[in-house]
Amino acid sequence: MIPYGRQTITEEDEAAVLEALRSELITQGPRVAGFENAIAKKVGADHCVCVNSATSALHIAYLAIDLGPGDLIITSPNTFLATANAALLCGADVDFADIDPDTFNLDAKALAERLELHRRAGRRVKAIVPVHFAGQPCDMAEIAALAQAHGARIIEDAAHAIGARYGDHAVGACTHSDAVIFSFHPVKIITSAEGGAATTNNAEIALAMAKLRSHGQTRAADELIRKDQGAWYYEQHVLGLNYRMTELQAALGASQISRIDALIQRRVAIADRYDAMLADLDVICPVRAPGRASAWHLYVIKLPSGDAARRRRVFERMRAAGIGVQVHYIPVHLQPYYMDRGFKVGDYPVAESTYDRVISLPMFADLTLDEQERVARALRDALN
Ligand SMILES: *Cc1c(COP(=O)(O)O)cnc(C)c1O
Repeated sequence: MIPYGRQTITEEDEAAVLEALRSELITQGPRVAGFENAIAKKVGADHCVCVNSATSALHIAYLAIDLGPGDLIITSPNTFLATANAALLCGADVDFADIDPDTFNLDAKALAERLELHRRAGRRVKAIVPVHFAGQPCDMAEIAALAQAHGARIIEDAAHAIGARYGDHAVGACTHSDAVIFSFHPVKIITSAEGGAATTNNAEIALAMAKLRSHGQTRAADELIRKDQGAWYYEQHVLGLNYRMTELQAALGASQISRIDALIQRRVAIADRYDAMLADLDVICPVRAPGRASAWHLYVIKLPSGDAARRRRVFERMRAAGIGVQVHYIPVHLQPYYMDRGFKVGDYPVAESTYDRVISLPMFADLTLDEQERVARALRDALN
């Protein structure tokens, strides 16, 4: 089976992990800071905090902007569960705004309507959480204007989008946001096996996230409330967690990010090749928004017509042909857990009709031309 996504591991990666494993500190050593510096430099952010997953990064980013009971976030229904779940874990509430039918990203008009609805109801939206679906950045200028008008913060879920660009900036530069989170799960652009990071240009948010990932504690002399206690001394300032990244993960992540430009180039070439291979098929290839460069985490095709049953037939024929296609995403509001919270079928019609017709084709840096031709042939057969 050709998977829809897979890591690329080199001998340099293996050597970096082995070196970390043989070193004095296999957690809480220098490699995590090294990886953080490499990420911050690559995306042009002032600060970076690495953690054990993007889910953890979302959680501490939300906590760092004081998201809590009585607060509300608005995100896209076309995302992985974690974007919404992490807000619920803070005790906050979650709402969604529908997506654009072409880019599958948050639709600015739908977002404006939801914000207005909550304003009229007297509910303050604490944060907007755009998700850069498939690696293609959202329209951040439009979203930022809405956030400003409504006094909302912005946390970008860029789990798909390290290496992507919006205008003159890399995603992660926080040009329009308080923090940006990344995932290093093996199917994403670069991997640390499990892992995530949050970047920010706000020193207070950075410090809060660094404390939250490690029990809410600090040892830094300039932060201690009680001075001069001794070399053993640490202080807890807030209620935190253990979301630390290990040295093994950081070694792998640092080795991977040193090759990120080449990895993205491979994905761009694969996307271009798919566009050409599928041009005469009755499918809608990914729409490329102007002024943005996708990181191409996913290559998502949409069937122009038909219902969920047709998509299922095409999907199953491709799986039977050894192509590990996937579907991104089941709209979060349709999960039983979220329907128990009051969401219902029909709440976000564009996300729902998109879900019925999309299929993610295999997309990863090591996908060969031969494999890609097999995918295109299988899709051609499956459509007939
Ligand atoms: C993968 C993903 C996450 C969670 O990432 P983990 O590192 O697996 O916790 C969050 N949001 C989106 C959009 C994702 O795709």
